[in-house]
Amino acid sequence: MALLPILIHPDPRLKTPAKPVDEITDDLRRLADDMLQTMYEAPGIGLAAPQVGVMSRLLVMDCVKEEGEPPRPMVLVNPVVTWSSGERTVYEEGCLSIPEQYADVERPAEVDVAWTGLDGERHEERFSGLWATCVQHEIDHLDGRLFIDYLKPLKRQMITRKMVKLKRERARA
Ligand SMILES: [Zn+2]
Repeated sequence: MALLPILIHPDPRLKTPAKPVDEITDDLRRLADDMLQTMYEAPGIGLAAPQVGVMSRLLVMDCVKEEGEPPRPMVLVNPVVTWSSGERTVYEEGCLSIPEQYADVERPAEVDVAWTGLDGERHEERFSGLWATCVQHEIDHLDGRLFIDYLKPLKRQMITRKMVKLKRERARA
């Protein structure tokens, strides 16, 4: 396993829709392992392939937060939201591609998501709470959408300016 560099906004790859995965290969399994390790290390609760520069519809997540509860690493290939609740919920979201910036985002409180697992089988599950927010945030990444795209333009521009500055500082370091 290896840690992968995470792209920081603004980057054109974070604004580009990813392509469907047409085969579960060993390379894809390795990528999923590396993404999980990268996510846990960050630490984060979700990571989508475009965030590590791979333009494939693949995401990993684990939203278990309770102390002592076993981890639940999930790998979703070609995930699709098949149902969204009318009820909506607000979470303060962050993103590994937009470090240290947080903002309230309103999304459906529950979603049904269908995907292909690394076992090649089709899975479907209803997500609620933090899991629902996380899976929608990550699927957005596969469509080239970031959580700041839901914010008012001024707030979005302010965050983007901070990220440009951060990237400049990191490039210099
Ligand atoms: Zn994100």
